[in-house]
Amino acid sequence: MTACNAALRGMPSVWLVAKLHKEELAFVSTPVLTFLTRFLPDTMRLSLEAWHVDDAVHQSTLHVTSTHARVPCPLCHVQTARVHSHYAHTVADLPWGIYSGCLRLRVRKFFCDHAACSRQIFTERLPTVTAPWARQTTRLVEGIRALGGALGGAAGARLTPRFGLPVSRDTRLRLVARLPLLVVPPLSALGGDDWAHRKRQRYGTLIVDLERRRPVALLNDREADTLATWLRAHPGITVSARDRMKAYGDGARAGAPQATQVADRFHLVQNLAEALDQVFSAHGNARKAVSDALRKTPVLQADGRTAVPVPPRAPALQAQTRAAQRRARRLATYEQVWTLHRQGWAPRAIAQQLGMGRWTVGRYLRAPSFPERKGRSDKGKSRRTP
Ligand SMILES: [Zn+2]
Repeated sequence: MTACNAALRGMPSVWLVAKLHKEELAFVSTPVLTFLTRFLPDTMRLSLEAWHVDDAVHQSTLHVTSTHARVPCPLCHVQTARVHSHYAHTVADLPWGIYSGCLRLRVRKFFCDHAACSRQIFTERLPTVTAPWARQTTRLVEGIRALGGALGGAAGARLTPRFGLPVSRDTRLRLVARLPLLVVPPLSALGGDDWAHRKRQRYGTLIVDLERRRPVALLNDREADTLATWLRAHPGITVSARDRMKAYGDGARAGAPQATQVADRFHLVQNLAEALDQVFSAHGNARKAVSDALRKTPVLQADGRTAVPVPPRAPALQAQTRAAQRRARRLATYEQVWTLHRQGWAPRAIAQQLGMGRWTVGRYLRAPSFPERKGRSDKGKSRRTP
């Protein structure tokens, strides 16, 4: 069903509902035309001529014309008022409730009368409404782009139909890709670290402006030359924070020799945590003995009474046997890793040969003695023996 409402132009809507809202006339007295005009993308430049709703396809259409009598030529920017012709241009707009939005623009073509201009006829531009040749209003594009930027392709595709924006994944990504690139301000302190195109296969480099706390560049690899080239294009850097990867050190020295190189806090703390982990893992039995002794010590309560901790129940014999078997397997693997390492095998080859993760191989090779399982940190603890 199509209901064209051009005949209602300017007719106040108040009489339709006055009987229901006699006490709230100020609230309901906005004429329909005035009301609908509020929803135009540019109320200063567009005039609403008609509107209709198509219930068959759930679409509302606003018919609008441009109101400016004189417009500038896009080439020479000289104003002109001599109209050549009109044509209709339809663009999608923001949805309204269950209806998709549509703008039917009556666009004019003008003569450019400037003698020095090579353009004789041009189409008027409506930069606040839509871009030339675009099929969507600018505000619709901005909405789709914002959703695409926040959600990406797949998540955006799942969510946007619920907001009445059924745009394909590719269109959304194309709109995001057209965003102008970030203008990098003069940098003083930056941080660099690697990021994974694909984990364990291909890595790039992320560069962060440490003063403004925002990323400013993604480099396609983590080679010294790539970093050095980028740094040379951004002179004035005084501090370069990074991990201790050799390529980053070489790149920073070559590209920004004036900068102070700093081992960043994240990697320092990470290295400290790894070192402590190795130390404590190597003394797993001693830690367990100290922990057990502490758990057996009576605890003096605030009210003067003494609480005697109840030792945790020993695991069942079957569970103990299984744990011992697992430990024996881990120990055998640990010794195999070290045997191959001493024969000159690379960690990656060891991992492939023994069917284990490279991270575990690396952890074993960093541990001077067999790292015992840590176990639960709260084992044997209770509210009475915190
Ligand atoms: Zn011109």
